[in-house]
Amino acid sequence: MLYYTEIGVSNLEIPSEKSLCVYISGCQNHCINCHYPELKLCDYGNILKDNIFSIISAYLPQITCVCFLGEGNNTFVDHIEFINHVKFVQRLNLKTAIYSGRNIFPEEWMKIFDYVKVGSYQKNLGDLFSRTTNQKLYLNQTGNFKDITKLFWNLSKNF
Ligand code: SF4
Repeated sequence: MLYYTEIGVSNLEIPSEKSLCVYISGCQNHCINCHYPELKLCDYGNILKDNIFSIISAYLPQITCVCFLGEGNNTFVDHIEFINHVKFVQRLNLKTAIYSGRNIFPEEWMKIFDYVKVGSYQKNLGDLFSRTTNQKLYLNQTGNFKDITKLFWNLSKNF
């Protein structure tokens, strides 16, 4: 089951989108210099499936995308739950995104998302706004993932 710790609206996570960011706990990664250690706690926060309708409804007029920051425990059951949430969000004509901290190419189950971010956080390489970053943001073009990371590089973190 997926749990979330907090939510908030941001222009930073996905270029050209106003995203409702939903921070998912249960992270199984071990990034050195983890910037959000609470996300590594399991079953921590609020149950997502009990609240997703109300939290999205509250922000609906002002957002274009729902961005899940984290993959939970990254189990098959979690993937199915994400897919069900994405189908609900799609019915509201919103885009969807997921932030994974794993060093992978987007996986098959991720093809339901419009955007997929991958890559562990490595302080020496920087985050997505750094030209030396190891992290990547992909745009899903009907099942083919296009690397659009460079869109971050001309943006200010304060926009
Ligand atoms: S992906 Fe890395 S930085 Fe993000 S919560 Fe997990 S360990 Fe921390």
